[in-house]
Amino acid sequence: MSKPPAAPIHPLVLMQVEARLTEEQKAIQNVVRDFAAKELKPNIAGWYEDGQLPARDLAKALGGIGVLGMHLKNYGCAGTDAMSYGLACMELEAVDSGLRSLVSVQGSLAMFAIYKFGSEEQKQEWLPRMAAGEALGCFGLTEADAGSNPSEMRTNAKRDGDDWILNGSKMWITNGNIADVAIVWAHTDNGIEGFVVPTNTPGFKANLVKHKMSLRASITSELVFENVRLPASAVLPEVQTLRGPLSCLSEARFGILFGVVGAARDCLETAIDYQLNRHQFNRPLAAFQLSQQKIADMAIATGNGMLLAAHLGKLKDQHLLRPEQVSVGKKNNVRMALEVARESRSMLGGSGITLEYPIIRHMNNLESVYTYEGTNEIHTLVVGQALTGIAAYADYKA
Ligand SMILES: Cc1cc2nc3c(=O)[nH]c(=O)nc-3n(C[C@H](O)[C@H](O)[C@H](O)COP(=O)(O)OP(=O)(O)OC[C@H]3O[C@@H](n4cnc5c(N)ncnc54)[C@H](O)[C@@H]3O)c2cc1C
Repeated sequence: MSKPPAAPIHPLVLMQVEARLTEEQKAIQNVVRDFAAKELKPNIAGWYEDGQLPARDLAKALGGIGVLGMHLKNYGCAGTDAMSYGLACMELEAVDSGLRSLVSVQGSLAMFAIYKFGSEEQKQEWLPRMAAGEALGCFGLTEADAGSNPSEMRTNAKRDGDDWILNGSKMWITNGNIADVAIVWAHTDNGIEGFVVPTNTPGFKANLVKHKMSLRASITSELVFENVRLPASAVLPEVQTLRGPLSCLSEARFGILFGVVGAARDCLETAIDYQLNRHQFNRPLAAFQLSQQKIADMAIATGNGMLLAAHLGKLKDQHLLRPEQVSVGKKNNVRMALEVARESRSMLGGSGITLEYPIIRHMNNLESVYTYEGTNEIHTLVVGQALTGIAAYADYKA
């Protein structure tokens, strides 16, 4: 029996996807990878097991390396290209989807909403502090009875003189309990509008969602608004339709389609390493043909996911990326990552179910990622609509 090669090819090097990246993009990716290796990886299993995240400290550290709202320009943001943002998400999610969620919600949902639809005053007030990680944001769209169809939301804001009075609730809101500011979407007489709500406003309450078995290193909350009085200046002036929150979600989904490649990569690396070092039947597990078939299939699937992400990243940087293409990437790459995680988990046998290895954590996290930011089914229907011209999730009109 010959020994395995001393330095097997890294799974993502197999397809040389990095050849598609510029030196600057690779340098940014390395900064985030080094940060993750030093500050995140050693702690993540403990945070996950405890169901806690030192989010405030982490936000400052992440702000320090410039990843919060990194693809936005000015207002203290790094102003990188979209591909670099995607690569940063990949390195964070290679540690844990909860950490990437913290960054996605801050940069792509809360900051992007203010950046794209806010007044100059709102941008000056919030964006520099949010980019530095000194202020945290959350994004409230989903409600207990309005998930895949946010137009059914009941939260509403009514005029009272110049002020607004906000009533209602939101469910499953990432960062809700630790946020300084919430972007809340509500029905108004004008349509669906976004409100910039400081979380210390009287009548605003956040309740922690407990007993999660997925994204345990991420804070998830219910938000309740009881006669929250807001000044006229709280409304995001530039949008009055669902296009507002949906365009923010498109930004965040772009980060996800890169991020989950990181989770798949970590599962695969762990499985290969384990199978090279564990022996059964007098040989390394990696020496069995069945094992190599799994490893080869997973490396090709992960590489294809990375190629798709890099392609969509390039389209985004050329301002050519369309929403249905983001759906293709989110749907394909999350499903791919889940499949890789499940197969990798089994390759560790009993060890695969413990937090000593990252795979079961990734696997459980990816169940949330499969559901949030548009479920797998809704993205399928978006692609179906693009291909047939028929929106299967709306009233059918012949
Ligand atoms: C951990 C976590 C964090 C989250 N963070 C946020 C956040 O920060 N902000 C926020 O606003 N939301 C957040 N969400 C909410 C998330 O976006 C919703 O859970 C998601 O949109 C699905 O809504 P739902 O849970 O109500 O499921 P439902 O919409 O009730 O769907 C249940 C099932 O039915 C399927 N389904 C629904 N409609 C159709 C259809 N037309 N055809 C076929 N199948 C259909 C769905 O695909 C799904 O499989 C988060 C969720 C989780 C789990």
